Amino acid sequence: MKKAFIGVYGCQMNVSDAERMEGQLHSIGYVRTGSMEDADLILLNTCCVRETAEDKVYGKIGEIKHIREKNPGLIFGIAGCMAQKEGENLIRRAPHIDFVLGTNKVQELVNVVREIEAERGHVVDVSFSETELPEGLPVERGGRLSAWVPIMYGCNNFCTYCIVPYVRGRERSRLPEDVVKEVGEAVAKGYKEVTLLGQNVNSYGKDHGRADFADLLGMVDAVPGIERVRFMTSHPKDLSDKVIAAIRDGEHICEHIHLPVQYGTNRVLKAMNRVYTVEGYRDLVGRIREALPDVSLTTDLIVGFPGETEEDFSALLDFLREIRYDSAYTFLYSKRSGTPAATMENQVAEDCKKRRLRELMEVQNGISREINEGLLGKSLEVMVEGASKNDAGIWTGRTRTNKIVLWEHGDEQPGDFVQVRITQPQTWVLKGEVCSRIPR
Ligand code: SF4
Repeated sequence: MKKAFIGVYGCQMNVSDAERMEGQLHSIGYVRTGSMEDADLILLNTCCVRETAEDKVYGKIGEIKHIREKNPGLIFGIAGCMAQKEGENLIRRAPHIDFVLGTNKVQELVNVVREIEAERGHVVDVSFSETELPEGLPVERGGRLSAWVPIMYGCNNFCTYCIVPYVRGRERSRLPEDVVKEVGEAVAKGYKEVTLLGQNVNSYGKDHGRADFADLLGMVDAVPGIERVRFMTSHPKDLSDKVIAAIRDGEHICEHIHLPVQYGTNRVLKAMNRVYTVEGYRDLVGRIREALPDVSLTTDLIVGFPGETEEDFSALLDFLREIRYDSAYTFLYSKRSGTPAATMENQVAEDCKKRRLRELMEVQNGISREINEGLLGKSLEVMVEGASKNDAGIWTGRTRTNKIVLWEHGDEQPGDFVQVRITQPQTWVLKGEVCSRIPR
């Protein structure tokens, strides 16, 4: 058996692409190894959303040069966003790379590897077709209970700090029947939960017009045997009342919406090209909470965007206190060359950004803790995942609202559904005790 090491950087879309790459490698006789030294093939599925992500990959490429010297038969490839962005430059800079495969070429992996196996040489394929989608590929999924299912690729939005539209192209939606088929296949293999993936799932179907995102949610909700349906990411400008109603009416659609606001003043939102306003976002949150009173809302926030003033930052903190997210992913703005924001004037000093980030996290952590404390004594539905990493006697699972719950293990098994009464709510996790099994 030949062995393949696959390193994945970046977002869930990259994880999902890597599962399709692994499926293809498996189909031509490669099995997964966790050790680069043992591997016959090393593939890095890369991210370029921040310069630090690229620096990490360049570090790894250097490390692999030494492995290649000891193992000249090793095949080494780079895929993903950095491959798309850099193309041939990667091989010029590091000739021990055998192939470079762009974001739209996941389905070419088998052909490329066979070509290199037959006749050593460099292959670079970063060509882009706006109509080609990687359908019908074998998938080797990482998890046993939860499956990532991409529903669309690319992004049309061009937020001024983001490189994604340049490396993943315009939005292309899969056909609804292909998505539903993949969900059905995952359920048949024992998966209980799917997460529908896209850079902006709310604009699903605008290109083919066969179904919109609300329609798709309804179709996936109706797949026999599915227990939970999640989705990410939602752009506030496209989240419609029809989608909110689909979540409310769906039996298996989880009441969790990741709704990146990115900032809390109209001036900065405009500079980011986010298209919505604070008032519009506030109104949307009101409609969501009216329809889904138990919803959990999470968000992404960027501090230190060019031109951010103390007044902006203070308004952002006020906005957080008003909206009260369950949790937030907080980022320091970092320049991404090739994006409009990288050349904007009034870049914020690093120490100022760091100070603001600390303050932001402090405010958000306080809110997360208060919201979780409101769950004390409540009984929540949890899908059992298994033993926690640090203590085999403590098990973990998630609520429908995507909160992590910990409890002392009894006789429940992964994939069971249990009611857990919350006894110790904390900022990041809820501790509790199982009070009953939920029959399925
Ligand atoms: S919506 Fe904006 S932040 Fe998200 S991927 Fe598209 S351009 Fe990037």
